[in-house]
Amino acid sequence: MDPIERLSTIFERFPGIGPRQAARFVQFLLRSSPAIRRDLIESLQCLGGSVSQCEECMRFHTSREKLCGICANPRRDPQYLAVVASDADLLALERSGTYRGMYFVIGGTISLASEKASGLRIPGLLNSISQRVEAGLKEVILAFPANPEGDATMIRLREDLEPLTLVHELKISALGRGLSTGSELEYADPDTIQSAFESRR
Ligand SMILES: [Zn+2]
Repeated sequence: MDPIERLSTIFERFPGIGPRQAARFVQFLLRSSPAIRRDLIESLQCLGGSVSQCEECMRFHTSREKLCGICANPRRDPQYLAVVASDADLLALERSGTYRGMYFVIGGTISLASEKASGLRIPGLLNSISQRVEAGLKEVILAFPANPEGDATMIRLREDLEPLTLVHELKISALGRGLSTGSELEYADPDTIQSAFESRR
């Protein structure tokens, strides 16, 4: 296959990228300096070599340690656990700079078509709660996108977590809807994320 076409096909597989955008990326790289292309090659190679999954929050990270940089950081506050749909949402909350607690990545949202939660790490989350309470956990914050799938997942998790509040002193909250309906956490600006945290209930 022609190298331009080949790279274009790879970019097309990226989320939200169509053939025209993929072609623009390739054109950009063709016009860029060799240094930028080399940088891209090297960073891709590093990514492939050392990706592992954090045992605590379940996100993918690029170190050889069992825990990611967030979970291994002693300055993070174990009183709070934010449950998020994806690694991308976790990173959006991190970028906002307003949250200093821990995370758990559930690995997606409930699909409304099937109403199935299969593949989501709900059992893993529930099983980890007692241990987290012992480590100081006081509040689980459900941080899902303001769309029907996000809402369905939040309702399901509230139901699953509620029995644990009978045996532990634990609060379950969800991000306030400072996020406009339909908005993805991933694209929300830091101020919006901050107000969503402050108005959680
Ligand atoms: Zn982690």
